[in-house]
Amino acid sequence: MATCIEARRALEDGESSGNVAVHVSSCDGCRAHAALLATLAAAAPSQPDEKVVRAILAARPVARWQRRQLRSWLPLAAGLALFGLGLALLRGVPGSGAVAFLPGALGSMVTLAASAVADTVAVARGSAEAVRALAGAGGVWALVWLLLAAVGGGWGVLALARRRVGEHQG
Ligand SMILES: [Zn+2]
Repeated sequence: MATCIEARRALEDGESSGNVAVHVSSCDGCRAHAALLATLAAAAPSQPDEKVVRAILAARPVARWQRRQLRSWLPLAAGLALFGLGLALLRGVPGSGAVAFLPGALGSMVTLAASAVADTVAVARGSAEAVRALAGAGGVWALVWLLLAAVGGGWGVLALARRRVGEHQG
């Protein structure tokens, strides 16, 4: 005849030999212990079912950026390419004089490309002055760079705006 402690140790080790079985059948405490062990064993996580895992992955919502197709990134890529081309034409970052003018000039050009409203004339006058100043400071290649960046940036803005409108309608 096994003691309670011996019987419970044997149960925890997965043994259920004759002595243990006899003790458990006649001892309420050890029967409860055996039931608890069985419950714990059933609650232990099993190996994941490959099919269930795949179903969960397929049912989960797709992020917006995952649905974007390659061509929707083209305007951004083209803008970066034009920017890089301009840098190459300038053979590096333009001189400090040109850099100082660049933010304002670029801002004016981008506004010019994006707005196309009544005050276009005023903006154009502003960007014309910025362009003239930039030409004096950075030379003709700075102007070429600015033009390419403006074309690329304007195209990117328009393409993104069109896509946004299409998404809202669709
Ligand atoms: Zn017992």
